[in-house]
Amino acid sequence: MERVIRKVAVIGSGVMGASIAAHLANVGISSLLLDVCPKELTEQERQKGWSLEDKEVRNRLAKQAIERLKKTKPAPLYTNDFVNRIRPGNIDDDLEKVKEVDWVIEVIVENVQVKQQFFERLEQAWQEGTIVSSNTSGVSINEMIKERSISFQSHFIGTHFFNPPRYMKLLEIIPGEHTKQEIVKKMVQFGENQLGKGVVIAKDTPNFIANRIGTYGLLVTLQEMNEYELSIEEVDAVTGPAMGRPKSATFRTLDLVGIDTFTQVANNVYEKVEDEAEKSVFAPSKLLLKLVEKGWIGEKAGKGFYEKV
Ligand code: NAD
Repeated sequence: MERVIRKVAVIGSGVMGASIAAHLANVGISSLLLDVCPKELTEQERQKGWSLEDKEVRNRLAKQAIERLKKTKPAPLYTNDFVNRIRPGNIDDDLEKVKEVDWVIEVIVENVQVKQQFFERLEQAWQEGTIVSSNTSGVSINEMIKERSISFQSHFIGTHFFNPPRYMKLLEIIPGEHTKQEIVKKMVQFGENQLGKGVVIAKDTPNFIANRIGTYGLLVTLQEMNEYELSIEEVDAVTGPAMGRPKSATFRTLDLVGIDTFTQVANNVYEKVEDEAEKSVFAPSKLLLKLVEKGWIGEKAGKGFYEKV
């Protein structure tokens, strides 16, 4: 009998993991939201007498993500009680629970080594039949699982959601070299029929389709801004509604995405392409690196190009 996707494990509760879990919850799908265990206590936790062994602390990241979701303005047709369908946990204590789910989606930092290490760990708990995917913006699907068994690889696929998933229609599906055809078909149908997305199948090339173009556009804009000495507000004004795009066209988008994540996504292409002209566009931006160094990485830090007041 064909397995239906009813329960999901979302790994990583950051900008995208939490909002993908929210989107799933809104279409009636329960999820387990797992993140890493914190290595230090907060002042508040210390005052409460908690230790690093306490569940409240170990699940802190996923719990905080759920609290943030409760405060997010819901998109049209979203229900208020959707967060009840998201169960918080952590990778150290709860990874075995992936045995209870039909699909595991990895939404952790955009770093190929970190993703490879996670999939090595996941394979120990994984059971044949469970679909595994990555929400990577552009790391090679084949590379991140190259050390895994062929059976695991045959259940693996790229499922790239766009930010914010509750509004963005596009879902890129990226089959790997060994992905079973039935899984490609299933995820396309699931994405379109259950998640309400417009699905595009992409090849496993650096940053796939949308981010190869989108990242290029944002980086060229940064370079032109420098050349023409434009301000952040001026660039947002000319690249936003005036061009039929949202108000958030350039710098607000970078803040929303996360400047650390964007820098890594640009790097996906820089490290893989040989064409000198393309390489020069995707080269690490000094301005972005400086912001990352300062910790001004966008909305998730309360400060990026814009400051949250
Ligand atoms: P983020 O920085 O907001 O969150 C990353 C999460 O990964 C954090 O919660 C962190 O604790 C967790 N993490 C770090 N190391 C981990 C590990 N070893 N094991 C498990 N979890 C770990 O990042 P994000 O913006 O949510 O991006 C996550 C993925 O989604 C990346 O691959 C990114 O390229 C992709 N993506 C991001 C966007 C976007 O707009 N931000 C859009 C589409 C796709």
